[in-house]
Amino acid sequence: MRVVRAAFAGSAAGPEGYPKGDLPEVAFAGRSNVGKSTLINALLNRKGLAKTSGTPGKTRLINFFDVDGRFFLVDLPGYGFARVPAREQAAWRGRIERYITGREALRLVVLLVDIRHPPAATDRQMVAWLAHHRVPHLVVATKRDKLGRGAATQAAAGLAKDLDAEVLAVSARRREGLAALWRAVETGLFGAAA
Ligand code: GDP
Repeated sequence: MRVVRAAFAGSAAGPEGYPKGDLPEVAFAGRSNVGKSTLINALLNRKGLAKTSGTPGKTRLINFFDVDGRFFLVDLPGYGFARVPAREQAAWRGRIERYITGREALRLVVLLVDIRHPPAATDRQMVAWLAHHRVPHLVVATKRDKLGRGAATQAAAGLAKDLDAEVLAVSARRREGLAALWRAVETGLFGAAA
């Protein structure tokens, strides 16, 4: 998919702040530091559009990006952030769950995991929970460039088995795997790729 114009369309803590209208949505989720903002910026060809979890206070809300007036790309708060108090983490989690279970426009959740590590308990819970609620989802292994080719293939296969999900490996830094990810997203949003 060729993105011509992506623009920040607002932040929300809950449904009253979600964008109006009936555009379909694809949401990106993952533990903080997994590379979510870097990947979103690479996909949208916009440096600094999605804010990294290193930016204080920028990532506790759900952020919506309008992509060419065709759909919204939704950046969910990163979970498992060690420096955030448990009570606040629980509030973020509530926001994520409310969005995922309640948002009619949601077509696909892209769950990011670091290719170098086995899935964390929170990642497993997220996958199990998406499956339980029958929310279409895709697991993306980030930072593929950190491993050699053989090790990356092996790690992605291990994650797929472990999480019982389809896994796509990408490197935002080297812009690898982005076309395949866009194809999967487009199919999730609009059915068979146009
Ligand atoms: P977020 O907290 O999930 O939004 O993660 P960020 O996008 O801020 O990335 C966390 C760290 O991982 C940063 O230091 C990034 O530079 C690094 N990172 C993100 N994507 C990649 C990648 O594709 N390859 C490599 N090697 N590092 C990456």
